[in-house]
Amino acid sequence: MAKYRVAVIPGDGIGPEVMSAAVNVLTEMENGSGKFDFEFKEYMAGDAYKAKTGTAMTEETFEAVKASDVCLFSAVGETAKEVIIPLRQRLNLYANIRPAKVYPNVPNVKGQMDMVMVRENTECLYKRIQDGGPDWGVALRVITRQASERIAKYAFELARREGRHKVTCVHKSNMMETTCGLFQDSCRKVAASYSDISYNEEIVDACAMKMVMYPERFDVVVTTNLFGDILSDLAAGVVGGLGMAPSANIGDNMAIFEPVHGSAPDIAGKGIANPIAQMLSAGMMLDWLGEKQAAKALEASIVEVLKEGRALTPDLRGTAKTKDVTKAVIAHLGDKTF
Ligand code: ATP
Repeated sequence: MAKYRVAVIPGDGIGPEVMSAAVNVLTEMENGSGKFDFEFKEYMAGDAYKAKTGTAMTEETFEAVKASDVCLFSAVGETAKEVIIPLRQRLNLYANIRPAKVYPNVPNVKGQMDMVMVRENTECLYKRIQDGGPDWGVALRVITRQASERIAKYAFELARREGRHKVTCVHKSNMMETTCGLFQDSCRKVAASYSDISYNEEIVDACAMKMVMYPERFDVVVTTNLFGDILSDLAAGVVGGLGMAPSANIGDNMAIFEPVHGSAPDIAGKGIANPIAQMLSAGMMLDWLGEKQAAKALEASIVEVLKEGRALTPDLRGTAKTKDVTKAVIAHLGDKTF
């Protein structure tokens, strides 16, 4: 039986609520499968942990995550730059994968979208090389050919693997010749060796408009760190909100799976957070671990729950609680093999 050591970081706000939902679902799957076994180990990090101890994430926690097979992360608030950003950078999780897909019964903008955002995850303004005084500020945008070609290659390989047909490079090279120009040039070079996948380019501002007006035109999108952050929230809005948006941070040997959303302090503690983004992130984790059938069964169960329309949280215009969604998903897993 495959055994997976999973580092679990529930974080702040709704983090622990949606994490508990996802871990319950994974535990049911482990019990029902007989093929894999999870060893969950929980680690505290984030705003609340910093308020208590003075540090947002200890070095021991970092080392423990590094030593695990995989990490399931939820959300931290203000301390994101002390927790998830260093985890992504220090573990070299260079590909941030953010699918945006229309699901049944989820209020959305245009009815059609099935896109995967491939966001470069280690450089750009997130290097946080910056300085400032009371009346000025400066930040350095770092783009390298090595990281740009690596992420472009990841996008084309993902397109092939998932049977997708088009990769769109999003940039602003008309204004930022040295950084976006290099990124664009790197994408073009990589595109030349993938004649089976079509390739086009969009300037980031026009791209934002087109994602809202013509979401069906996007398939795989590859872009730099900050543009990817903004456009993936936009795409999440197009398909029904942050409660539906999962993500993965992937490196060569390690990965962290987390919902796109933050700690949502406005709804924390009310038991009404939508756990689907966290569950879909857990599904992406199963897929990455090679448990393809389990990943498909989990997504299928979520789709069935959405189609039934009974266990929908308020962000999906329902009245259900987080725990109702968990129960419903677990019930649908019961008739599947994985
Ligand atoms: P943070 O400071 O941690 O980024 P935030 O509130 O600024 O928190 P998000 O947590 O991403 O940012 O939330 C943005 C909005 O989306 C909030 O109104 C929040 O309630 C809503 N939201 C986010 N995640 C969910 C979810 N899982 N279920 C329901 N609503 C959500």
